[in-house]
Amino acid sequence: MIEVQNLKKYYGDDEAIKAVDDVTFVCPDGQITGLLGPNGAGKTTTLRMITGLIKPRGGTVIVNGCDVTREPEKVRQMLGVQADATGVYPRLTPREQFKFYGRFYGLRGKQLDEHVQAVIDELQMQDIADRRAEGFSRGQRQKIVLGRALVHNPPNVIMDEPTNGLDVMAVRQTRETIHAMKARGRCVLFSTHYMDEAERLCDNIAIIVGGKIVAVGSPEQLMRQTGQTRLEDAFVSLAGREGLLRSEHAGQSRSLELNTAVA
Ligand code: ATP
Repeated sequence: MIEVQNLKKYYGDDEAIKAVDDVTFVCPDGQITGLLGPNGAGKTTTLRMITGLIKPRGGTVIVNGCDVTREPEKVRQMLGVQADATGVYPRLTPREQFKFYGRFYGLRGKQLDEHVQAVIDELQMQDIADRRAEGFSRGQRQKIVLGRALVHNPPNVIMDEPTNGLDVMAVRQTRETIHAMKARGRCVLFSTHYMDEAERLCDNIAIIVGGKIVAVGSPEQLMRQTGQTRLEDAFVSLAGREGLLRSEHAGQSRSLELNTAVA
């Protein structure tokens, strides 16, 4: 479980860029949580703070009871983070890459081999597991970076726009993988710009606009709240309404009404 509490990150000399501003949401185990928001809303900054890549200005991130800032080593063991697919080693096979990462997480011998095989099976990579990664398609490379993130069997998985730039088949495979992770009881948190994807996959959604959470709830709750039948329309309604409130009440706290409406 990932608990994000009053998280803040400001940029600029006078901290004028409020990239993430008092963000709070929870990602339960065995559920898929989607972080949605327009460009520049604060999604990547939020995910980077959760993974410990950047330090928050304020607030806390608790992963399975451990504080990301105070206990980074413990959190690292409980978190799988899907990195950019450009960082794949072309000379190594997927199995070799998973072993390399497994050792990094302290796995050795039989236990390491078992973990590596479990990832190969989970991601259905049996046919490519022992081929050098040179020339792998984008979808295949995506599986390698996801496999590297899963090799220590973390209960929580974080993905930043996992289907961005993938073809139809690779998108479908990635979505199936996300579903399978949920079925195994993992807590999955991902960001996406694809509303149909979020509607189909997510149990919970947090919508962030201008660094603030403007709505949280299941896709059904968000659609009901806005009187829409598609998540895309609900998103436009919530994100657009927030934009209007911001221009009308510049500088004031403004997401309370929306937050309480969904809670
Ligand atoms: P996108 O959907 O376009 O990827 P996002 O929701 O992931 O956007 P972030 O990348 O988190 O948004 O950026 C949030 C805000 O913080 C933006 O205004 C961005 O310009 C700003 N920002 C992010 N990182 C930095 C940085 N290192 N220095 C200055 N400003 C930054």
